[in-house]
Amino acid sequence: MIRIENVSKWYGQARVLAGCSTRIAEGEVVVVCGPSGSGKSTLIKTINGLEPFDEGTIVVNGVSVGAPGTDLPRLRARVGMVFQSFELFPHLTVRENLALAQVVVLGRSRDEAHARGREYLARVGLAGFADRLPAQLSGGQQQRVAIARALCMDPVCMLFDEPTSALDPEMVGEVLDVMVELAGEGMTMVCVTHEMGFARKVADRVIFMDQGAILDDCPSEEFFGNRAGRPERAQQFLARVL
Ligand code: ATP
Ligand code: MG
Repeated sequence: MIRIENVSKWYGQARVLAGCSTRIAEGEVVVVCGPSGSGKSTLIKTINGLEPFDEGTIVVNGVSVGAPGTDLPRLRARVGMVFQSFELFPHLTVRENLALAQVVVLGRSRDEAHARGREYLARVGLAGFADRLPAQLSGGQQQRVAIARALCMDPVCMLFDEPTSALDPEMVGEVLDVMVELAGEGMTMVCVTHEMGFARKVADRVIFMDQGAILDDCPSEEFFGNRAGRPERAQQFLARVL
């Protein structure tokens, strides 16, 4: 589903991705963790072409992301992405937030887009909130709308970049619950998160990054169960976050 091969990226002299390689199979849930500045956001943003890279290959669902001629808007439409900040359009109601890209990018009729929007809004537990503006929702509710909006596009996979880290603690659970459910339905997911409870419970695999490199990439049972077998930097990280 996603193949990342030897991907490197520089900002001037600074190498922010250092020969990253991994493969993510259909239906797999992968958690990416690591210290601040280790390149987690940069790596997952290369997957849908939001961040260009200098070397290597990324293929998503058969489409080569970095190749000249690749239709990035089309690829992005099929790769759902949810950020730390909710990124809803503040002047549009929830209903319109859910419909916009379906109409503009996928060419769906407004009726079809609204029907799809209603369906996913109910799925994230927010039926009845369609007429609100984002500012009239809590952070957790806004983030669930952002997830619903991504799902409306029939994504082939979902990328999450610290979706709960801007939330008040009491709202983290409701967003993680939606993600757990999505994983249970077989969605391919790449999640940058420090929620190690989620990682342990839901992830098939954990990738640990440090200084732009993937230092560890193993089944989550092994990542959490065989601490002594982890690279030293990963052990230090785990000691801090667990
Ligand atoms: P965090 O946990 O804080 O979100 P991260 O692991 O997501 O960190 P990235 O945001 O991917 O890290 O950043 C990786 C490195 O790239 C950092 O050293 C950062 O300073 C650098 N970087 C990111 N964006 C730019 C930019 N536009 N110009 C220069 N350097 C950048
Ligand atoms: Mg980041």
